[in-house]
Amino acid sequence: MITRVIRVGTVELGGGLPPPVQTMTDTDTADADATLAQIGRCALAGADIVRVAVPDTKAAAAFGRIASESPVPVIADVHFDWRLAVAALSAGAAGVRVNPGNIGGETKLMRVADECARRGACLRVGVNMGSLEREFEERLGRTPEAMCASAAASAAVLERAGFTNFKVSLKASGVRDTVRAARLFARISDVPQHLGVTEAGPVVAGIAKSAVALGALLSGGIGDTVRVSLTAPPETEAEAAVEILRALGLRKGGVEYVSCPTCGRCRIDLPALLAEVKARLADVKAPLKVAVMGCVVNGPGEAKEADLGVAGGRERGSLFVRGRFVSELPYDRLAPALEELARKFLADREAGGEPGGGKSWRPTGRPAGIRAGRPLGSPASGPAGRPAWRAAGCPPSGPARIRARRPLGIPASGPAGRPAWRAAACPRQALRESGHVGRSEARLLDRREGRHGGRPDAPVRPGGNPGT
Ligand code: SF4
Repeated sequence: MITRVIRVGTVELGGGLPPPVQTMTDTDTADADATLAQIGRCALAGADIVRVAVPDTKAAAAFGRIASESPVPVIADVHFDWRLAVAALSAGAAGVRVNPGNIGGETKLMRVADECARRGACLRVGVNMGSLEREFEERLGRTPEAMCASAAASAAVLERAGFTNFKVSLKASGVRDTVRAARLFARISDVPQHLGVTEAGPVVAGIAKSAVALGALLSGGIGDTVRVSLTAPPETEAEAAVEILRALGLRKGGVEYVSCPTCGRCRIDLPALLAEVKARLADVKAPLKVAVMGCVVNGPGEAKEADLGVAGGRERGSLFVRGRFVSELPYDRLAPALEELARKFLADREAGGEPGGGKSWRPTGRPAGIRAGRPLGSPASGPAGRPAWRAAGCPPSGPARIRARRPLGIPASGPAGRPAWRAAACPRQALRESGHVGRSEARLLDRREGRHGGRPDAPVRPGGNPGT
């Protein structure tokens, strides 16, 4: 069922709109500075709405400043005392969340709803399996059916009073119960749903549970806003929720990262590089796909669809724009250069030019004209103006390129079962190491293919020394 559209401050949700991400601060709400700082970090991590606990009057007193200075709408989370909800709404809360299991019944729920209606704020009826209204728990037990019945009863009370700017949540700590409860409610109501697995657990388990539950529901068209609950900082929750939505195609914009798991070929500290790149690009809101790969063997190829990328080497790395090499730099210059390149890429794209500046891009401070990646000692350009090291038959490195050049007649694998011709930097070296041909035969092959200074048209004397 398509849900109706409601509003939380400046954020609209429901009606098939992309679900906004929510998280909840873990600071002392009475400490407005600390709470605002954390809200700012959450917003940077992708949170669209932030919930703040209001457990007492000191927290309610700080709410005014928090609500007015927050970059995103702030919801007050209230248990037991409906007067705290009213106080938070008076202070400027964009919404409140109450639990029908402990707010004190229909009359008190309506007091909060009336205040919301008066101030144009949003209400969430947050049903939790662990704190169900007694009536429904006694009748149906701790079940998804009881959660659904409780949410439906509160929704009916609010709608009878003509209040519609509210949403519900039906959360359990188990994936199956959460999914079943949300599906049951979606069958009978068009009230928007806030999704989440409550008390999902530590980071890995919590993200796994949330991804499964949110994936099952959102891919079936259920869910209008989400939270990933983790025993972790709220910034992590927001980031995880954004990535789940992105994986479902429900979140556009911001930087999407492609990064490899690393393996024995990786010679740089990839996790540290990725963390630095993410920190540097945290403010980017425009869509951008960035690849951070451990090596040049598979990195550039597997990250071809990325807008920009970096692939590690031995304490160095290569930068790419849309799969095309643009520069090679020492490890400590990679993240700043990638940031510089990303900002240029975005500016160029915004201006309608060639993103990344095409082949002309060089990181700031690098001497112009030096072609990164050119092997030391080789001339920058050949006789026809083409970089000689590029024109040479033997690639600088890279099994992928060597694979395409396996000389005819040479077996694909060496004596130990390993493709010997792939392991070396050039076919001649591989041939020698493989033991399949002798030194002179390898040179003969080089000469035929014009490698290592041999001329393809030079007369070949078997057993001779064509390269010197
Ligand atoms: S990109 Fe390179 S380092 Fe990363 S997993 Fe693939 S082969 Fe290994």
